[in-house]
Amino acid sequence: MKLILLGPPGAGKGTQAKMLTERFRIPQISTGDILRGAVKEGTPMGVKAKSYMDAGGLVPDEVVVGIVRERLQKDDCATGFILDGFPRTVGQADALKGTLQDLDKDLDAVLALEVDAEALVERLTGRRTCRECGQGFHVKFDPPAEEGKCDSCGGDLIQRDDDQESTIRKRLHVYDEQTAPLIAYYGEGGLLTCIDGMQEIGSVQEKLLSALQAS
Ligand code: ADP
Ligand code: ADP
Ligand code: ZN
Repeated sequence: MKLILLGPPGAGKGTQAKMLTERFRIPQISTGDILRGAVKEGTPMGVKAKSYMDAGGLVPDEVVVGIVRERLQKDDCATGFILDGFPRTVGQADALKGTLQDLDKDLDAVLALEVDAEALVERLTGRRTCRECGQGFHVKFDPPAEEGKCDSCGGDLIQRDDDQESTIRKRLHVYDEQTAPLIAYYGEGGLLTCIDGMQEIGSVQEKLLSALQAS
């Protein structure tokens, strides 16, 4: 199963991708997670990416295209993968097409999660992530059993630097300008299914699974 999960920041891509990786035993490839890892380690790529991420803008295409190209060649992608947060521009989508052709892989589906802007802001301001294992929570919609602590590993839950309201508004604007055109891009290829992402997490998962059965 080779998938792209499309959708604005806060739509639930990461949450849904994690559930799909368990079900299908295929890796989640999140460019956001990979970039945050590089920032944390202070690699040259991380240093370069940080200013774009802090400002709520996109990291240059050539950086993320290179990350994904390398990642897709790892053994664990042999049977499939879920791209979460990539591609985000038409340039990235074109580059992905070339990479997949070179690697002789075909996409099975592109699933786009649709969520209203106000709900996105509420989801992003309440998002918390485990510092140790990366599991995601929401203070209201997916709260941990003990406040501020991860259910899986007991690690501290932290808020991402870019999940402040002013940066969120910038990211949503960037999505509308640069990423939303990918809905039409993939619509033409016949692989796209749009999914109502406004329901609770479990219902959205069911909708994704039935869309995958149909594709
Ligand atoms: P979210 O899940 O909230 O949409 P991500 O974790 O996917 O956020 O991305 C966080 C930030 O990392 C983005 O705002 C952007 O700066 C950078 N980033 C992630 N993926 C890409 C990409 N494909 N192209 C350019 N920048 C990216
Ligand atoms: P994305 O990866 O698209 O930026 P996330 O999966 O990180 O989005 O979800 C953003 C926040 O919203 C998280 O705190 C998550 O727990 C919460 N969330 C995800 N899906 C839903 C949903 N269907 N309803 C309510 N909250 C959700
Ligand atoms: Zn944890």
